[in-house]
Amino acid sequence: MTINATVKGAGFRPASRISSIGVSEILKIGVRAGAMKREGKPVIILGAGEPDFDTPDHIKQAAWEAIQRGETKYTALDGTPELKAAIREKFERENGLAYGLDEITVGTGAKQILFNAMMATVDSGDEVIIPTPYWTSYSDIVQISGGRPVLIACDASSGFRLTAERLEAAITPRTRWVLLNSPSNPSGAAYGAEDYRPLLDVLLRHPHVWLLVDDMYEHIVYDDFRFVTPAQLEPRLNDRTLTVNGVSKAYAMTGWRIGYAGGPRELIKAMAVVQSQSTSCPSSVSQAASVAALNGPQDFLKDRADSFKRRRDLVVAGLNAIDGLDCRVPEGAFYTFSGCAGMLGKVTPNGKTIGTDADFCAYLLDDAHVAVVPGSAFGLSPFFRISYATSEAELKEALTRIAAACGRLS
Ligand code: PMP
Repeated sequence: MTINATVKGAGFRPASRISSIGVSEILKIGVRAGAMKREGKPVIILGAGEPDFDTPDHIKQAAWEAIQRGETKYTALDGTPELKAAIREKFERENGLAYGLDEITVGTGAKQILFNAMMATVDSGDEVIIPTPYWTSYSDIVQISGGRPVLIACDASSGFRLTAERLEAAITPRTRWVLLNSPSNPSGAAYGAEDYRPLLDVLLRHPHVWLLVDDMYEHIVYDDFRFVTPAQLEPRLNDRTLTVNGVSKAYAMTGWRIGYAGGPRELIKAMAVVQSQSTSCPSSVSQAASVAALNGPQDFLKDRADSFKRRRDLVVAGLNAIDGLDCRVPEGAFYTFSGCAGMLGKVTPNGKTIGTDADFCAYLLDDAHVAVVPGSAFGLSPFFRISYATSEAELKEALTRIAAACGRLS
């Protein structure tokens, strides 16, 4: 009996720091879609946040060579000297930023970098400003670190971007950080120099507020959009700006788990303390692979971005051709974040009324067998996110099915 009770988890009480954090909506949809697929239903999953390309061969080769050289042990705490040097080069070459090696940190994915930064700096009740729609981990990480996420709705009318007025109004004496992500997951919206400028001017007036920018999708930008990062635009903020990036999206290396950041030395040191008591160091083999990624040929990045652009155009046109959907053209990343206000209030063939974006996404999964994620998962409704990191053939089929399912609503 006692054993049974233990197995069922009787008496388990989660720590308060995680009790308000639910299982992500994205994960739940993935589980349902996966189960339907196993039942033999032809489900198309447009939920994954990773490129469908393979990691390039020269990167895999570098990992193999590192293993053969015996680089299979713990490394320096927050990055090997070789990888930090490659990151310093990258920041100089691509962003015109001159970080010293002690101003660079490497972690197990950009997610761990964000986690280290929040754990190292946020005290109970400190506020962190997050524009919505946002990548869900932002608010969860802030909450785990004891902070209070301050969510600011930024809808399609502002291009899903934070404005200076809204930022100014959200800052209080407890504000510790502002988190910005460009190009954005989930909206694909990106901040050009002219979008960042007014925000940086606000931050110059509030010296207690630090800026974390997540540049993960830097290399996936389209048309004539010119990627910039705030540390490049405003050196006066550099002593309180953390520039986060990683190899996951650019080099199709999501499973290798390497992310990095450049920022003020004292912050980098504090982040290393958190890392030293959580993971000790990032994987030695993955670090060697990342050196090859950053130092190796970069020309294929443009080809991949071009391929994503064709898919973006296909998806945006397909969605906008459907009555009741409204899709802004994203500047980057591999997501569309489409408005679905026109679907609310409609009734499915089964007689269910669509009341929310989550209802709409559930209907698309049931009726069209297409898995997409509701805006509510990213803090802004009524919208839904499509990840178009999949083949054009699959995207065309998904769009045909979505259009047909929408046509069956009355
Ligand atoms: N930032 C954003 C905006 C992301 O979408 C992701 C991955 N979904 C990450 C950071 C984390 O990337 P990783 O941990 O794989 O480096």
